[in-house]
Amino acid sequence: MRYLISDIPQGSAKGFNQSFSESSESLGFTEGEICIEGKVEGHLKLWRERAIVTIQGEISVNVSLQCCRCLAGVMMSLYPVLTLRCFPEALIDNDLHETGEVSPEDDIYTYAGMFLDIRPIVREQLLLAVPPYSYCRSDCYGLCVVCGQDLNRVKCGCSATRSDSRFVARQHLKPTFRITKHG
Ligand SMILES: [Zn+2]
Ligand SMILES: [Zn+2]
Repeated sequence: MRYLISDIPQGSAKGFNQSFSESSESLGFTEGEICIEGKVEGHLKLWRERAIVTIQGEISVNVSLQCCRCLAGVMMSLYPVLTLRCFPEALIDNDLHETGEVSPEDDIYTYAGMFLDIRPIVREQLLLAVPPYSYCRSDCYGLCVVCGQDLNRVKCGCSATRSDSRFVARQHLKPTFRITKHG
């Protein structure tokens, strides 16, 4: 998943297709960051216009998340679709935003030197695809703020409101990842 820039074909018509199947470790995920079940798979097409590389395609992954209301495990399949461009670092320094070549909404990455490693890009796109809140079901009742029991399973009879219980469940969640992004 690391390419010599000059090996990437010029023009979208000649772009080459790349399929991959990678473990979460090889993509740089660390324990506690995001719980990936099995391999991360993807089909990408790469081409370039001069030094600007375009990557287009789809990734698929199964992740194990936690319900933000009751903290139960939730399995989710994610299929982030990408279209993004990678610029040589030197070019970014010349402020492409001013020339109109890129707009702030564009998904922009940079590379340094003669190689482009797409693993950090795949990693970040997966992190971006994970919903900030996940639910075991849309009408999950969460945990009781008074006694902590799962209100989907028991009617404990404590006098707490449903919205309070959601709030408390969220407080127990730690942020699971940090995102750094260019552009
Ligand atoms: Zn739940
Ligand atoms: Zn209770």
